[in-house]
Amino acid sequence: MTDKLNIDDLPIRDELKGKSPYGAPQLHVPVLLNTNENPYSLPEDLVARIAERVAAAARDLNRYPDRDAVELRTQLAAYLTTSTGHAVVKEQVWAANGSNEIIQQLMQTFGGSGRTALGFSPTYQMHDLISRGTGTRWIEGPRRPDFTVDVEAAETALQAERPDVLFLCSPNNPTGTAMERETVVRLYDAAQAVKPTLVIVDEAYVEFSHRPSLLELLDGRPLMVVTRTMSKAFGAAGLRLGYFAAASAVVDAVQLVRLPYHLSAVTQATALAALEFTDVLLGYVDKLKAERDRIVTELRALGLDVTDSDANFVQFGRFEDTHAIWQAILARGVLVRDNGVPGRLRVTAGTPAENDAFLDAVRTVLKENR
Ligand code: PMP
Repeated sequence: MTDKLNIDDLPIRDELKGKSPYGAPQLHVPVLLNTNENPYSLPEDLVARIAERVAAAARDLNRYPDRDAVELRTQLAAYLTTSTGHAVVKEQVWAANGSNEIIQQLMQTFGGSGRTALGFSPTYQMHDLISRGTGTRWIEGPRRPDFTVDVEAAETALQAERPDVLFLCSPNNPTGTAMERETVVRLYDAAQAVKPTLVIVDEAYVEFSHRPSLLELLDGRPLMVVTRTMSKAFGAAGLRLGYFAAASAVVDAVQLVRLPYHLSAVTQATALAALEFTDVLLGYVDKLKAERDRIVTELRALGLDVTDSDANFVQFGRFEDTHAIWQAILARGVLVRDNGVPGRLRVTAGTPAENDAFLDAVRTVLKENR
């Protein structure tokens, strides 16, 4: 039987109509620089430690996992405390399957039907999609031509739209732009002046930033949440482990929507093993930051317009036919990302050899298109 139904024939919710699922093409080419992954695979001694921890967890798989992931949250709190110098305790930390699930839990709790979320575009598309998926109206505020957030325009949008949730992404995907501490403080205050607003600061890429984390701003700001992930700096995108830090009441609130036992014992054991190797894994971050800076410098030397980056990726342009340039780079075995930002592409910092391959491809493509 052929199934001729398609999505448009189904009575799906109005806010999902006409939308596309999130996801970059998963193509098999030699150089993959399109999803902001860490190019370094886990060191062998960490792989062995994961096997050990997972084997211990496997002996108890007849039981449900620790529903509150206490040991893991304790270690994540310790990591945040040592890496930022700002003390955080496990009661202020919550973990889930990737920061996408973290954002979803926050939106199920603070967004929803009749509620509104505001973000500044271009930004991480899942903020929009998770908002819609939870029945929250999504509104886009503008950025300046250099992709920083325009504080005055943001304040106007806050007053006009009265959102329940405000998304700030620092460093921002896909532009790489970090936010000034003062801007975040001003926007938090401006939002609260209108009505109580949950302010989500998405710090998925913060370990790659030239600036410190915004975590210290949690003090005295009960409606601020900082979200993090082990997918980027910890080189563990396949693990699916995201987390947030906030006032402990926010952690208590998301308990109302989290599925029971959402974080498997295998995931918890693997994440704990990775956290034991924090220093080794963050050593790769230093290499990637240097490579990111090299990509910026070399692309600028080619005469391209390159956005300042505080992340493990770089936005570059401008191109008249962005898709054709993307395609031409791909034809040379290098996959980068077309995020739909007019005239711009995004490349993830890979190993030095991968970045050389990318830069060679760009040089050739530019020559051919001159
Ligand atoms: N936030 C931002 C800004 C991202 O770019 C990503 C991944 N692309 C995520 C969150 C989600 O990451 P994960 O679910 O792997 O933790």
